[in-house]
Amino acid sequence: MAQIRVENLRKSFDQFAAVQGSNFTIDDGAFFAMLGPSGCGKTTTLRMIAGLELPTEGKILLDNEDVTFQRASARDIAFVFQLFALYPHMNVAENIGFPLKCQGMARRDIHQRVQETAKLLRIEHLLSSKTSKLSGGDRQRVALGRAIVRRPKAFLMDEPLGALDSEFRHLMCSELRDLHDRIGATTVYVTHDQLEAMSMADRIAVMNEGRVEQIGFPQEIYDRPASMFVADFIGSPPMNFLRFEAGLRSGDRTISFHDTSIAVPEIREDRASAGMALGVRPEHIRFADAAPVRGEVFGAEYLGTTQIVTVDTAHGRIAARLPSSAPVRIGERVGLEFRSERLALFDVASGLAIR
Ligand code: ATP
Repeated sequence: MAQIRVENLRKSFDQFAAVQGSNFTIDDGAFFAMLGPSGCGKTTTLRMIAGLELPTEGKILLDNEDVTFQRASARDIAFVFQLFALYPHMNVAENIGFPLKCQGMARRDIHQRVQETAKLLRIEHLLSSKTSKLSGGDRQRVALGRAIVRRPKAFLMDEPLGALDSEFRHLMCSELRDLHDRIGATTVYVTHDQLEAMSMADRIAVMNEGRVEQIGFPQEIYDRPASMFVADFIGSPPMNFLRFEAGLRSGDRTISFHDTSIAVPEIREDRASAGMALGVRPEHIRFADAAPVRGEVFGAEYLGTTQIVTVDTAHGRIAARLPSSAPVRIGERVGLEFRSERLALFDVASGLAIR
């Protein structure tokens, strides 16, 4: 097991800055997700931790040892790509034991390790099967077995479930997390899928355009996003933003939105007008006749126990998650009430949360 730390990590390809100064520590034994849209620098960061890519600047430390210039094979870290490639001419036991054979381990030791690994994955009964005869789930487990059999200090996983359909992915997520809890090895998991990250990780780093926008526990990132980017990327449908102008006076402790005053950290400068965005999650909205934000129901999407109702207002189209039993008529005028204690507030120019 290992603690992984990156300090001011940067990587440029020619003039293009793919990773722009990341700093974070991954605790020993943690399940850490790097989440962000395509091209935000997740894979490049992971490859630098693995030793497959040399940083342009910055340091990588494994258990406080600087490994920035250490070659990949000396780091004792397993890099797991999409989990489906197996050797078709080998049986399950041979597939799992292959990395140990490459290391030159004695046959008896390989046999024992393969047995232990298969037990951990609950696939002992499949050891002599041909991989071509396996179900999709068992193929994934064998591929995983091949990754864990070396007992590395840490696992780096790059979208390992990317090629799977969503139902199966869900199942594999819980298996991966369960396996992590039993092995206890530090895991860094790269994904662009917020549900995968939220459901598996202890902590998440949300990345955007080469920068880490926020690091936190899943609930922290959902409840208190540090930026409009994070608020928009996490949650389905995402957080609503209601833009408005506020007059700021130095010393103010509140900002007014319609007739609601919102507590904020002390304002430090006078500004006649500042662009603000009130952030409201769809589940923190309900219909209320007397509410100051009003609009016309545009549509309703039935989702079983809840429905997503969209309402056109002067602040743009707002999505509300309501119980399916709530009566909704398209074209109806409604008032929208927000749970004030769950509101977020952002400075539009910087995109950063101010509360
Ligand atoms: P994806 O999920 O699409 O892989 P990502 O977040 O993992 O995205 P990276 O693969 O780290 O992103 O890429 C970050 C940026 O760096 C992208 O714009 C990519 O085109 C660029 N990049 C990555 N590797 C190289 C390379 N070897 N040469 C030039 N540009 C690269």
